[in-house]
Amino acid sequence: MSQTDTPPLRTACWRGFRLICPQCGQAKLFSAYLKPVDVCPVCGTDYSSIKADDGPAWLTILALGPFLVPVAFGVAVSGWPAILTYPVLAVAIIGAVLLLLPRMKGLFLAALFVNRRSQNEAQ
Ligand SMILES: [Zn+2]
Repeated sequence: MSQTDTPPLRTACWRGFRLICPQCGQAKLFSAYLKPVDVCPVCGTDYSSIKADDGPAWLTILALGPFLVPVAFGVAVSGWPAILTYPVLAVAIIGAVLLLLPRMKGLFLAALFVNRRSQNEAQ
């Protein structure tokens, strides 16, 4: 596969989830916590025109909600002391969101990148 071939969607999304360039899989996808690089320093792929908007936040909520809502509900009805459980629960939820949000953004950017490339190749 040459540098200009678009990787399959699954490969690109896995690379994005691991915070590396969906095209080459060698360079970092983000220059800051949630700021993607404009251009990949290895393969030169331009990511400046790909905007994920609210997609990563939506995807993070969609991925974490089925796990965190039952845990929060279980803690709330458990009868454990609220002064201990709520701060621990808040830290766990915020930590999970902060851990998953950039990965979901990478995944989302990769999906948008592959979709855009395949549309351009079809024309
Ligand atoms: Zn690259």
